[in-house]
Amino acid sequence: MKGLLSAADLNAHEIESILDVAEEMHTIQQRPVKKLPALRGRTIVNLFFEDSTRTRTSFEIAGKWLSADTINVSAKGSSVSKGESMRDTMMTLDSMGVDAFVIRHSSSGAVAQAASWVKAQCINAGDGQHEHPTQALLDAFAMRQHFRTLGEGGSFAGKRIAIVGDLLHSRVVRSNVLLQRTLGGKVTLVAPPTLLPMGVDTWGCEVSSDFDAVLDEADIVMMLRVQRERMSGGFFPTAREYAASYGLTEERFARLSPTVGICHPGPMNRGVEISSAAADAINSLVLDQVSAGVAVRMSVLYHLLGGADEEGQL
Ligand code: ASP
Repeated sequence: MKGLLSAADLNAHEIESILDVAEEMHTIQQRPVKKLPALRGRTIVNLFFEDSTRTRTSFEIAGKWLSADTINVSAKGSSVSKGESMRDTMMTLDSMGVDAFVIRHSSSGAVAQAASWVKAQCINAGDGQHEHPTQALLDAFAMRQHFRTLGEGGSFAGKRIAIVGDLLHSRVVRSNVLLQRTLGGKVTLVAPPTLLPMGVDTWGCEVSSDFDAVLDEADIVMMLRVQRERMSGGFFPTAREYAASYGLTEERFARLSPTVGICHPGPMNRGVEISSAAADAINSLVLDQVSAGVAVRMSVLYHLLGGADEEGQL
């Protein structure tokens, strides 16, 4: 295996190892001096062809705290805006001796394609509607911490995870479904019929269009953003109607047990898929997910570049 392209690339042992090392990294995050020498002399390029706040910043922080040299390249401001192809950009940077690329692109499959052009390892930081494996890992980290806080141990076996919202355009849902297939969580997908991906019945999850029926059964409720930038037509009548049927409104939130963890990968559309009451609740894991993002990405970089053998095996 080269790099991390899909959540399906990881077996249970590898996931556990990433989450366990992330726990150690998380303790470093709490220290006043957050620096480890593990990746000294390694160079990581964050190559973002699409907007990002959380993912890019956390990968940059993760690399820096492990003492790697991290460089950010975005499409705007690079030769990509002069018409250079992605292949030429990648091969140019690869020739400089880069050790790893962290890549985000609006096209599904673009990161796997990029990985075939370069010697450096590639990490998928989100490719179109396809996958976002480090998001699923950080979600698993935050959920596992939540289960432990409740005194339930860290296992996902039999845990009921409802993933709700714009499934059609979401790479987060695809990576979570693949990761939970390995971890043993029981995923139920909830969306209006217009926002269900084709072939979702083959994903091995329960699928529902009735959020209220699923809500009372869940251990985790993960709300997904309505991705207006990827929508060309009318997938639902109005934001208000969407919120009434598929939003974690104040009313639905009031029905939830405080032991139910509320997740959202961000950025949130408050008042559409999630109410402020839910987003800011004591059982909201939203900021835990952000914090886990740095620790998990440190762990992934460490596994690929630090504790790895020469082939970059996890
Ligand atoms: N931040 C996540 C992603 O990049 C989720 C989202 O944008 O809604 O896929």
